[in-house]
Amino acid sequence: MKFDVVVAGAGMVGGAAASLLARSGFSVAVVDGQEPAPFDNTQPVDLRVSAISPGSADILGEAGAWRQVERQRHCPYRRMAVEDRDESVSIEFDAMEFGLERLGTIVENSLVQWSLWQSLLTMGGVELFCPDRVTGLEYSEGDPVVKLESGATLHCRLLVGADGANSKIRKLLGIRQDHWEYGQQGLVSVVQTSTPNSGLAWQRFLEGGPLAFLPLDDGSSSIVWSLPEASAARMLAMDDDAFLAELDQAIAGSENHWPNRVTGCGPRAAFPLTMRLSESYVASRSVLIGDAAHVVHPLAGQGVNLGLLDAAGLVEVLVDARNRQVDIAGDKTLENYGRWRRSEAEVMARGMHSIRGLFIPEELGPLRRIGIGLISGSWTARDAFIKRATGRNRNAPALARGQTLTDLLRAASA
Ligand SMILES: Cc1cc2nc3c(=O)[nH]c(=O)nc-3n(C[C@H](O)[C@H](O)[C@H](O)COP(=O)(O)OP(=O)(O)OC[C@H]3O[C@@H](n4cnc5c(N)ncnc54)[C@H](O)[C@@H]3O)c2cc1C
Repeated sequence: MKFDVVVAGAGMVGGAAASLLARSGFSVAVVDGQEPAPFDNTQPVDLRVSAISPGSADILGEAGAWRQVERQRHCPYRRMAVEDRDESVSIEFDAMEFGLERLGTIVENSLVQWSLWQSLLTMGGVELFCPDRVTGLEYSEGDPVVKLESGATLHCRLLVGADGANSKIRKLLGIRQDHWEYGQQGLVSVVQTSTPNSGLAWQRFLEGGPLAFLPLDDGSSSIVWSLPEASAARMLAMDDDAFLAELDQAIAGSENHWPNRVTGCGPRAAFPLTMRLSESYVASRSVLIGDAAHVVHPLAGQGVNLGLLDAAGLVEVLVDARNRQVDIAGDKTLENYGRWRRSEAEVMARGMHSIRGLFIPEELGPLRRIGIGLISGSWTARDAFIKRATGRNRNAPALARGQTLTDLLRAASA
């Protein structure tokens, strides 16, 4: 079996990449160990949600998934507030002042993944190998030969590793990573508040780490609370009343931004927080995208957004190579992708790392307050922040900046 591209991993990032590549006319094989469960609006809200930027929503639109997402529960948000320990210093953003309809949309990860899968099921040019897993990699006449658990072998011109933070593909390619363990967990839950959340993404930097409330369509909020490991274990073990009391204490004193008390919560779970950055995104006729390539601290909600920009960037580079009749998996083509996307991820990963370092220690309080005041008062800084957070900065792929796949393909054939 020979394909232009094999995509290992059909999470949100691999699913989007596979769909965009097939829609651009490449023959694609997709391998994943697990088919996404059908999404049902009546099921409890998934504990894993993402703040999808407008640029990422455009990419998912071109991948044939965003309409499906918008038919199910989702929550656009127009306002964002970030404050220090108390609300004495804060930065606020409103979509309107930047001429935007929304700053982002909170969506359950399982809905995005299922919508992409539906799109792949009905698309020509895609073959799905699922449930199956990549177990080995060889080369034949220079091209990758991907070995699957089932015994199948897939020949391709290009292998795309989209198989998440513990990527098998990255290991098979021998790509090294910089890796920081924060010694923290991201505790997640869905909580109800005394007044419904009407579309505010709110984040407060507490002594142990940031606490975020992300709005959901029924007025409840999905929280992500970064906590030292011992505190996270304690919060997971306590009963609901004790947890709500801790949460109430953490949000107290935010009368302007968050005039609320928490009144109820669902189940809780916690995920280890790390930062990982691959030394290179490229090896012989292979590339990494999404969490396989980088993992960033969730404080700016940018992990999957970065990955979707990788997927769009890769498609842009491959379509351009095909147009110029050069090898889509040649070193130069892949380096164009790797240098571009790695430098963007490095800005984000190291940025999150520094912000986290600045916000945790109590003794940096005065410096922090000066910094927040300066950013809050500077239109240029706020505009640059919003452009990056919405996925529409100057270096973003064309698909995140309003161009369509048709535009890309038309430009290629002109
Ligand atoms: C607490 C928390 C909150 C977050 N909030 C946000 C947010 O608000 N916004 C945001 O942008 N990001 C957020 N993130 C980050 C985001 O969740 C990840 O960046 C994103 O899920 C990564 O997607 P992915 O498709 O790259 O990888 P994954 O979701 O890990 O998908 C990998 C896929 O590969 C498959 N796979 C694995 N191994 C193999 C194999 N050997 N063969 C075949 N298939 C394989 C798996 O089955 C899976 O389907 C958050 C992260 C955390 C921890």
